Amino acid sequence: MSSGLCSYVDLHCHLDLFPDPRAAVDRAAASGVYTLAVTTTPSAWPGTCRLVGGAPRIRVGLGLHPEIAHERAGELDRFEAHLPEARYVGEIGLDGSPQHRPHQAVQSHVFSTILQTTARAGGRVLSIHSRRATTPVLDLLAAAPDAGIPVLHWFTGTRSELARAVAMGCWFSVGPGMLKSSSGLERVRAMPLDRIITETDGPFVQTSSGPVGPWDIPRFLGEFAKVIGKPVQDAAELVDLNFRTLSNNAPDSR
Ligand code: MN
Repeated sequence: MSSGLCSYVDLHCHLDLFPDPRAAVDRAAASGVYTLAVTTTPSAWPGTCRLVGGAPRIRVGLGLHPEIAHERAGELDRFEAHLPEARYVGEIGLDGSPQHRPHQAVQSHVFSTILQTTARAGGRVLSIHSRRATTPVLDLLAAAPDAGIPVLHWFTGTRSELARAVAMGCWFSVGPGMLKSSSGLERVRAMPLDRIITETDGPFVQTSSGPVGPWDIPRFLGEFAKVIGKPVQDAAELVDLNFRTLSNNAPDSR
């Protein structure tokens, strides 16, 4: 599947958490879609790198997910140890949902420690979770301006939080889950077109044919194009150009 010379991109997908991770990686590789395979714990880094192997269009993100930060705070040392091997960091961030609120303090400690560690290492592209926590996420990012280029995945903040994120230089990754609600659509339409990249957040977004993954990006681009009011080819070229710009500006360009 290709549209001219365009590359398709899935900037946030949990390939290691699919029911059959090997099959998911093989399918992603065969699709040719550039994929950022985010992880949720530093201890998942070595295994996910092995799983992805030499797939030329799949990169692995070094992460520590906010929903399990209270269980995995002890892995911050492992995060720092693996960071020199990682060009991308994620999934990281904060989650302010009621069930995670009791762990707010440890979440903040983990996220800010990661940002400071990443800043000391020269910065990275960061794939960031901010559900019900946009303002505290932006506060911690503002306190660590050298941590790299923040990409807010599945942004759910308010219009004024979006404006602040844009002013801070944040990017956005947008997936099928965001296009299901009118508030999600409104947020996508308010984002700067030169800082949007596509994602799936598979396997945590489902369709009738199973969990979405990188192979669904060409179809998703059709929906995304309608939302931003552009022909699908233009939307594909836009995402491709944005991804190149992000990659070229990545702090740790190797
Ligand atoms: Mn995710």
